[in-house]
Amino acid sequence: MHLARFNPVRFAHLPTPFEPLPGLTEHLVRPGGGGPALWIKRDDCTGLAGGGNKTRKLEYLLGDALANDADTLVTQGAVQSNHVRQTAAAAAKFGMKCQIILEERTGSTAVDYTRSGNVLLDHLLGAKIRSVPGGTDMNQKLAEVAAEVSDAGGRPYVIPGGGSNSIGALGYVECALELVAQANETGLEIDRIVTATGSAGTHAGLVAGLAVMGADIPVLGIGVRAPKDAQEANVYKLARETAALLGHEERVTRDMVVADCDYVGAGYGLIDDAVIEALKTIARTDAILLDPVYTGKAMKGLLALSAKGAFDGETVVFLHTGGAQGLFGYQGELEGKLS
Ligand SMILES: *Cc1c(COP(=O)(O)O)cnc(C)c1O
Repeated sequence: MHLARFNPVRFAHLPTPFEPLPGLTEHLVRPGGGGPALWIKRDDCTGLAGGGNKTRKLEYLLGDALANDADTLVTQGAVQSNHVRQTAAAAAKFGMKCQIILEERTGSTAVDYTRSGNVLLDHLLGAKIRSVPGGTDMNQKLAEVAAEVSDAGGRPYVIPGGGSNSIGALGYVECALELVAQANETGLEIDRIVTATGSAGTHAGLVAGLAVMGADIPVLGIGVRAPKDAQEANVYKLARETAALLGHEERVTRDMVVADCDYVGAGYGLIDDAVIEALKTIARTDAILLDPVYTGKAMKGLLALSAKGAFDGETVVFLHTGGAQGLFGYQGELEGKLS
């Protein structure tokens, strides 16, 4: 796999650490001795103004933007989007302007949600921000804002929500390579990778990378928004497109794409007691800070599945995709529930 051909620009702190999770592994031992051996891939440590999974995607997207001589990044996300924050940071780093559209997707009007957490950081990083109601056609909105930038003499580069197109997903092809190399160095056989799956680029990139290199490691995506059928269809389509960029579309087969969307709860960005329990559990067993929207829900799923014996005897890698900055957007909902 020859990723240099896609001319990524380099700013992420890579390779990210790959570590055991002794505390949570111990916590998940079931009566009779079952349970997984857990490891964590620390993509919360990619280094770009707080880091997270969008940083790897942005290395490839920025490479493409610079090749196209763009001077303004245009993207969109939910109000507490980590993707938006990392895009604003990448723009700042490369002396570009950044136009952001935030969708009021959760309906929350709490001041911490609408102003603190990632939103505060977006402003700090100098992005120009506009907000639109939940349910807005965000792709059309992106096109409108890009046209405005062009009309004003700028050179826009549109990044889809989550940075999830085949170029962005190459960042997770690279992560798959990196992870397998680390496992080989450590002498560790990975039985399964568990990740949150949202706009699909992370999940799709991993599946494409593992398939093209022939690593034969299953990936379980824990959904945060869409139902299973829609999520798997999105991931499969993008994984095929990503593998096609690498010249091996046929190596990604439908059975490689598995999402469990039973842990979404009331909806995207809405948390429940099981999410709070997941945040607390791994903070206290291994001092890992998860986020309320993605990794907290993925961990809610991992804990529940583990308790049912789904991972007994397996070595499972949890991909930490970042987002702890978003915790401060949920201050009011978390406060008083952390004892
Ligand atoms: C965006 C995001 C995800 C989901 O990744 P996708 O590529 O959009 O599926 C997971 N975790 C965090 C913290 C994120 O910000």
